[in-house]
Amino acid sequence: MPEREIRAAILAVGTELTEGVTQDSHGRFLAGLLGESGILVREIVLIPDDRRLFVEELKRLAERAQVVVVSGGLGPTSDDLSREVVAEAAGVELRYREELWRLIVERFAPGSPSETNRRQAYIPEGFEVIANPRGTAPGFWGRLSVAGARAIVVALPGPPGELRPMATELVMPLLRRELGSAEPATLAATSFLVAESTLEEKLAEARLGEVAWSTRAEHLKVAFTLRGGQDFERTEMLRRVRERLGPLRIRDGEVEAERLLLDALRARRMTIALAESCTGGLGAKLLTDIPGASDSVWGAFVVYSNDAKVRQLGVPRDILDRYGAVSRETAASMAQCALDRSGADVSYAVTGIAGPGGGSPEKPVGTVWIAVGRRGREGYERGFRFAGSRDMVRRRSAVAATLVTDALLRGGDVDNKANWEYS
Ligand code: ATP
Ligand code: MG
Repeated sequence: MPEREIRAAILAVGTELTEGVTQDSHGRFLAGLLGESGILVREIVLIPDDRRLFVEELKRLAERAQVVVVSGGLGPTSDDLSREVVAEAAGVELRYREELWRLIVERFAPGSPSETNRRQAYIPEGFEVIANPRGTAPGFWGRLSVAGARAIVVALPGPPGELRPMATELVMPLLRRELGSAEPATLAATSFLVAESTLEEKLAEARLGEVAWSTRAEHLKVAFTLRGGQDFERTEMLRRVRERLGPLRIRDGEVEAERLLLDALRARRMTIALAESCTGGLGAKLLTDIPGASDSVWGAFVVYSNDAKVRQLGVPRDILDRYGAVSRETAASMAQCALDRSGADVSYAVTGIAGPGGGSPEKPVGTVWIAVGRRGREGYERGFRFAGSRDMVRRRSAVAATLVTDALLRGGDVDNKANWEYS
């Protein structure tokens, strides 16, 4: 049975968007989110803070789409027009909501809001509030009838840190309820140490049936979602992507590398010590960003110089002299010394050339050795060649060390060739 198509439009308001000062990110985000529930965005329109144009566009979109999401323009100043414009288009008055004003006052405590903030306590008559726990401007939604068509209009504040959680947590459930659209049939996964463009290629190669996908690059990973098609098709497509990029780099669900490792340690009641050279403590920062890390993280040796590797960690000077600081042997020794000095159950060591200087023909910039130590077991080492800037090489090194350690703990196939082919 062909699914009924639900059309949506996004109207992003703000002169800074049309003047090119701010790049619109709401369009892409909302289109992806709505699409997951089968609500297809057909237009993303950017307009300046211009009242006439705003009314015109809102009416035009409401006539053509069943859902119009308006972003921005909910602030307290006179160029924040969304409340007035939606009311005008709907032919209703703005209504003061005492309870909204009370929330605004609470948010400002122990200070107090200015009188201009009072504007934010008004929403169009007949519309409902969408709570905004992260800011003063509440959103709202309701129905708008234009030329016989009746659209749902949702207005959300502009700051991404407010709009995104509101859209995910509050707007999607309400739209699904109002439109009778199904919970999204999706499969979420995360890729590490893969460029977004490479992932896109592999997804295209693995394409199956009607399954669609979207990718989202973040600081240390690229999250992706498969949606539509049959359950077994999404599962099979993910299997194909994993086969091409390796089980180390493709993980189920939306996850962080450091959280995976912490979970693996916690499940085994193990502690970890790190020996970090080129990452300068980034590995420890990632792990300790997670609350409760103290259960599993002993600590880290940040041993940047050879002298520190010798004096702080106990790496034999002889090994450094013979093989160099960036070598399998030094990495292995660092991991072993970290185990010995800390008494932890597991360790990892990272040593590499982050650049931009310091490379040589045998060891170019981006050469990184990672070693994992496990009490009572043989060590594991692996060399990498990471591309990119100093910052990229350091981030990738920390993520790679985290993932390799995690995979070893879980008994995963770290040496699977596909793990390393594109890194
Ligand atoms: P505020 O109370 O902050 O004024 P608002 O709802 O009026 O909120 P805007 O003034 O339109 O929202 O935007 C506030 C900020 O949010 C902008 O300065 C910009 O940084 C960000 N922003 C707004 N719209 C977008 C967009 N489409 N894409 C990305 N960022 C946006
Ligand atoms: Mg504003």
